[in-house]
Amino acid sequence: MKGVPEASAAAEGRARPRSGPARPPDGPARLPDGSARPLRIAVVGGGMAGLGAARALEDARAADPTIDWRLYEDESRFGGKVHTVRRDGFVVEGGPDSAIIEKHWPITMARRLGIGDRFEDSNEGIRKSFVYTRGRLHELPEGIILMVPTRMAPFALSSLMSWPGKARMGMDLVLPRGGSARGAAGDGDESLGDFVRRRLGKEALARIAEPIVAGIHAGDPEQMSVRATFPMFLEMERKHRSLILAMLKRRKARQKAAAAGGGAGPGAAARSEGGPRSYFYSFKGGLQELSDALVASLPAERLHGGSAVRTMAPCGAGCGASGAGSGAYALQFADGSRVVVDAVVLATPAWASGDLLRTVAPLPAAGLSSIEYVSTATASLAFRRDQVAHDLTGFGFVVPRAENRPVMATTWSSSKFPGRAPEGHVLLRSFLGRAGIEAAAQLDDDEMTKVVRAELREVMGIAAVPELVEVFRWPRGMPQYRVGHVDLVNRIEAGVAKVPGVELAGGAYHGIGIGDCLREGAAAAERALEHVRGLPEDAVPPQPSDVPAGNGVTDWNGRRSRRGADSRPA
Ligand SMILES: Cc1cc2nc3c(=O)[nH]c(=O)nc-3n(C[C@H](O)[C@H](O)[C@H](O)COP(=O)(O)OP(=O)(O)OC[C@H]3O[C@@H](n4cnc5c(N)ncnc54)[C@H](O)[C@@H]3O)c2cc1C
Repeated sequence: MKGVPEASAAAEGRARPRSGPARPPDGPARLPDGSARPLRIAVVGGGMAGLGAARALEDARAADPTIDWRLYEDESRFGGKVHTVRRDGFVVEGGPDSAIIEKHWPITMARRLGIGDRFEDSNEGIRKSFVYTRGRLHELPEGIILMVPTRMAPFALSSLMSWPGKARMGMDLVLPRGGSARGAAGDGDESLGDFVRRRLGKEALARIAEPIVAGIHAGDPEQMSVRATFPMFLEMERKHRSLILAMLKRRKARQKAAAAGGGAGPGAAARSEGGPRSYFYSFKGGLQELSDALVASLPAERLHGGSAVRTMAPCGAGCGASGAGSGAYALQFADGSRVVVDAVVLATPAWASGDLLRTVAPLPAAGLSSIEYVSTATASLAFRRDQVAHDLTGFGFVVPRAENRPVMATTWSSSKFPGRAPEGHVLLRSFLGRAGIEAAAQLDDDEMTKVVRAELREVMGIAAVPELVEVFRWPRGMPQYRVGHVDLVNRIEAGVAKVPGVELAGGAYHGIGIGDCLREGAAAAERALEHVRGLPEDAVPPQPSDVPAGNGVTDWNGRRSRRGADSRPA
């Protein structure tokens, strides 16, 4: 195994100024006894971002044994929100259930880790979705891409929208550019709600964009930044004026390329190289196959589960380094022990990173703490097939917020992917909690199950007692990209860039998808490596054993390392 997941990930990394004379180019720094002095990098958080960082650091260590990294994770398992439970023949996803083909990092990583034969395509033949509104399920018309109609006949015949609503969507074809696209620079921001209302009308917002597009973030479209979440819409308006025209042109170009024999569309490269073929894909045993494979590829003694970092402080002279700002940090754990490191990749949720950075970098820390999160939950219920009258032809349904119901969406998991339920059974997964309406996500298991069963009875006529129930709660689990998010993240990153040896990664900044998180983790690791390799010789802290005894500094090698039971590859 060699190389980071993507060479481009490192290239995307933000440049970091160096200070002081760099370590000699002809070899690693030396301790007074002449031995090579390890360069210690801690990764905090073992979700996809943290594991992506760890993988890149392990690659670096293979080429340079002085790179000495550790990963500290609060939970006993690794993978963070990627959490699959396999029980009684069911494959139940607690968090994400799929990756999308146009983000290639998970595909590249899976191949590297030797699980390129484990991809599971979604059932493209029945890739349709429904919207529950006005007391029944309406099929989302074929040809709607995200929220933009590209096929007129199914759109015209659909029962989802009223005739005035459809006519208003059609006005997108003639409306001039508006909002930020009108300006010369065109780089302003606006809410998804404002954007959709002015281009496609308020009915399209309520019945399509809010439940489907904002639903991806469990967000409120009136608060969500269109620039941060769906910049391609702004780009389409800027370039083509009309979203419908832009989508039609894109489709035509793809058809032309496909007819000419070349690949076309998102993920064409992956498809042509024998990767997954469907837009949404997973792995045969669920998404956790990817995080399990990552964990299995890393040395167990470097992975510290059950190790929550409680505080982080620049330690400088206090721990033997030349002074504050040297890039040496002391991380303190719940049990009071500490480790001293040269660099830290914070792959924790933004609120946790904000807490940890409060004394190190108060301004960026305040910015991190201001990124809001929504609490969500998933409840998966399994039934015997003969207990469900619905044909389950499709991927599931969404519920617009205007319906004021506790369940915001239900995925028909066993329809979306093969192998999610044993023969004669079906698996349905409901989502609870969205911006401003989070109470349902905080119910206890019994209450939540009751709520979901009532919804499934009303929407799909399922009255049976479920044969299996799995509830996952994600308190403060979904970062919200609010209007101004891009500028906020730019400010946070500019602030953090002034703090030597501290890097951020994770779903709160440049994309919530697991592919984005992997890429971010690898890029943050590359920046941390660049930092430690450029450290002036006198700025490096000593080994923990050099620190006077009794000050609570733990031996770097002494912390418990373990793989959580759930994290072992099945
Ligand atoms: C219900 C749900 C459905 C989703 N569906 C999809 C989907 O289908 N496709 C998709 O691509 N994305 C989806 N997402 C988003 C995606 O799962 C996440 O954005 C991504 O997994 C986040 O990865 P991360 O590494 O940034 O953070 P996390 O997975 O949150 O990992 C952060 C880790 O840091 C640890 N931690 C926190 N504080 C500390 C501390 N002080 N010390 C040590 N460790 C700490 C936590 O325990 C956690 O393990 C979904 C998310 C949710 C909640």
